[in-house]
Amino acid sequence: MALGEFDLIARYFDRGPARRALLGIGDDCALLRPETPGAVLAITTDMLVCDRHFMADAPPASVGYKALAVNLSDLAAMGARPLAFTLAIALPRVDEAWLEAFSRGMFELADQSACELIGGDTTCGPLTISITALGEVPAGAALRRDAGQPGDDLWVSGALGGAAFAVREALAARPLPVGHPALERMERPQPRLALGMALRHLARAAIDLSDGLASDLGHVLSRSRLGAELDWTTIPVEPCLSGLAEADRQALALAGGDDYELLFSAASENRVAIAALGERLGVPLTRIGVLTAGSGLRIRDARGHTLTLSSGGFDHFA
Ligand code: ADP
Ligand code: MG
Repeated sequence: MALGEFDLIARYFDRGPARRALLGIGDDCALLRPETPGAVLAITTDMLVCDRHFMADAPPASVGYKALAVNLSDLAAMGARPLAFTLAIALPRVDEAWLEAFSRGMFELADQSACELIGGDTTCGPLTISITALGEVPAGAALRRDAGQPGDDLWVSGALGGAAFAVREALAARPLPVGHPALERMERPQPRLALGMALRHLARAAIDLSDGLASDLGHVLSRSRLGAELDWTTIPVEPCLSGLAEADRQALALAGGDDYELLFSAASENRVAIAALGERLGVPLTRIGVLTAGSGLRIRDARGHTLTLSSGGFDHFA
């Protein structure tokens, strides 16, 4: 590499003495202590591969932002507070303009989330970014996929379908204009960290929506050994999709991924407290269905018919 591995790390990733870690970048390992007595570590890794998870011409600042955001979203889904992260990156060549923007985008979110870069690995290869994020959560308080109970309400944060719409338009060579809300959703997902932490004592099961509502809810159902009923008319669809046909909106909101909203279950006694929490955080929280004994996911449309997933999306099924 032109710049040299160590100069590159020093210039773009090492920001001086660690603030939180006992020891940060520059040794064989970083040293980190959980901060809250009785807390356990929550650890997650997500890898982004160029042309698979982002497009080669994606703005590098957004790639840096998103690479960290998808990891912090996993911490949020467990109710964990971020502490630190490591960055393993393979670069096809040293492109300093790309690195400058990438690290700027990544540190923007890192600083906003008080999450410190404490180490990593840098190598030459096809553009790939793998981040491991470390957080902490009080022992026993993590929001696990297997913690749902029959009769729990199902809630979702924010609005769905925007990111999938932006991906679809980009793949169809109809790129959305800069600043379009759906493009923002795709490039700069907002990890719901404050919400996840506040839900520790209000929610039971939780998951972040990376693959799409139906598929991610399926993970909660199989881990909790339950079924679910959803009401399509209550599902919050990204407002900028209001002009699309209903079948399109259903496919994007139910099967489209990449929104990184939280889906969670909670006892019905907590309805008022959860609504108040959404108000306090300024995050829309919507009740979209219930967990049921048994198995399977049923989604009812406005006419009371059941929607089923086909290869092309969701179909009406009388
Ligand atoms: P080692 O060979 O002991 O694993 P390296 O030579 O790979 O260490 O890395 C030197 C130091 O730089 C280590 O502290 C490592 O954590 C850090 N580092 C390497 N790449 C990155 C990166 N992309 N971001 C942050 N720190 C990095
Ligand atoms: Mg190494």
